[in-house]
Amino acid sequence: MEGLMMDYPLTTNTILEYGNNVFHHKKIITYLPDWSRHEYTFGDMYKRCKKLANALTKRLGVKRGDIVGTFAWNHGPHVELYYGIPGIGAVCHTINIRLSHQQIEYIINNSEDKVLFVDATLVPLIEKVAPLLETVEYYIIINANKDFKTSLPNTIHYEDLLAEQSDAFEWPQLDENEASGMCYTSGTTGLPKGVLYSHRSTYLHASVVMSPNVANVGNKDILLSIVPQFHVMAWGVPYTCLLSGTDMVMPSSHLNPEDLIKILKEEKVTKATGVPTIWLGIYHEMKKNPPKEKLALKEYVVGGSALPESLIEAFEKDFGVKGVHAWGMTETSPVGTVSQLQLKHEALPYKEQLKIRAKQGIPAPGVELRIVTEDGSIAPRDGQTMGELQVKGAWIVSAYFKTNNRENFTEDDWFKTGDVATIDEDGYMVITDRLKDLIKSGGEWISSVELESVLMSHPKIKEAAVIAIPDKKWRERPLATLVMIDHEEKPSVSELKEYLSRDFAKYQIPDDYVFIDEVPKTSVGKFDKKEIRKRYAEGKLT
Ligand code: AMP
Repeated sequence: MEGLMMDYPLTTNTILEYGNNVFHHKKIITYLPDWSRHEYTFGDMYKRCKKLANALTKRLGVKRGDIVGTFAWNHGPHVELYYGIPGIGAVCHTINIRLSHQQIEYIINNSEDKVLFVDATLVPLIEKVAPLLETVEYYIIINANKDFKTSLPNTIHYEDLLAEQSDAFEWPQLDENEASGMCYTSGTTGLPKGVLYSHRSTYLHASVVMSPNVANVGNKDILLSIVPQFHVMAWGVPYTCLLSGTDMVMPSSHLNPEDLIKILKEEKVTKATGVPTIWLGIYHEMKKNPPKEKLALKEYVVGGSALPESLIEAFEKDFGVKGVHAWGMTETSPVGTVSQLQLKHEALPYKEQLKIRAKQGIPAPGVELRIVTEDGSIAPRDGQTMGELQVKGAWIVSAYFKTNNRENFTEDDWFKTGDVATIDEDGYMVITDRLKDLIKSGGEWISSVELESVLMSHPKIKEAAVIAIPDKKWRERPLATLVMIDHEEKPSVSELKEYLSRDFAKYQIPDDYVFIDEVPKTSVGKFDKKEIRKRYAEGKLT
């Protein structure tokens, strides 16, 4: 028997209409690359989304199902694109500005973007690939001065495009399963793969992310979205904030620690998102130049790589700011798990609470996890048995764009994450490694993530990245690359081994340590182990 409830489509238009009806006074604040500050309300943004919808359909000829690219930093107009494009039934494809020219060209041609919205400051990057782009009919330049010059063909300034349109627009009736957004994986191995989010998955993800057991954001918060809008749709922040009535602060290109601290202070930000390297940077900058007044910041949500327990502890003790650890992927929209303490944990000693908070956490409602061991069996939930993490749920990829390749999916339709993990009896998941980063030494597995986490708790170490190197006797051994807080103060190898011996068995402790100036980072700010392995193979790490 069918239920007798309304068929109410969960679309990005539903989110936009709700944000405008209920929280029209809430703000979007942007710091542009030239440091000019722009502030407007959800209500103002709503009207501009309707103008954009008119421009897309009437001036640019964009139709339902077309894909429209964005190549931009975090700012108000980019939020408008998150709503205006899917609002007419087209797909908002956010392109990672830090990829190589070849990858950018591949992604735009593969997705067949019809129109490309480009930040004026990023136009030089697109000019390099534009002659090779096969489908782009118009380039819309955002945040440009009137006298802005470019060699791109068919350009229109974004403000001119909106100025000529009415803010009256009737949204089409969309099916919630139509595509609304698109991101490509960062393609550390092989070509980037397209992930197509639906209106329904976007809506459900955004509404679950705001809930107390997940990111816990509400209408009293001011949220700084440090995660770029080209990295898994800024983790859904532009959608979550309209549902929760949260003021949004957008830093555009201001991503170094000094600039971010300035914005955190000036806007009295209470919550922020970011990968661990961002928060490591902010922490060390605050230690060097402690802020005169306590920040309004209460929590920072971290994902993308493991958040070291030592950083959670240090940030909290030194500055009273709480780190919340989450795990996710481009393929999981991205939020899969979050580690929040539960009532039963409150009586535990602080150190034990920290251990739980440093785990990747329990699945968000709407997501299921399982661990599959090497022999294909489902691992018990004992916090010990390692295997591949597999996932399914309401905002998990079911297939990649334009490919029938099912190698990332199981026969019973779970998504194979390529992460190695454990799950304990309370459902808390811990990532041991990426499958390709695990170190197998003398038949025993060694987790590079655990080694890095403990090395980064050493008082002299700022960053640590561990890779496997070939070894005649043991097949593989770990090599630790280290960045010091103070380059003059390097610990000795015996001091490092002694330090690690408190948490690791002898065979797990690296024999080799290399001091470097900086750990190379990927396009989304993670440690780039592929590049470290390459440098090692070229004999550059000795
Ligand atoms: P991406 O799709 O580029 O965001 O990368 C997803 C991958 O990042 C995951 O498969 C994990 O390997 C890694 N990752 C994400 N969050 C975490 C985390 N909290 N701890 C460890 N690894 C993580």
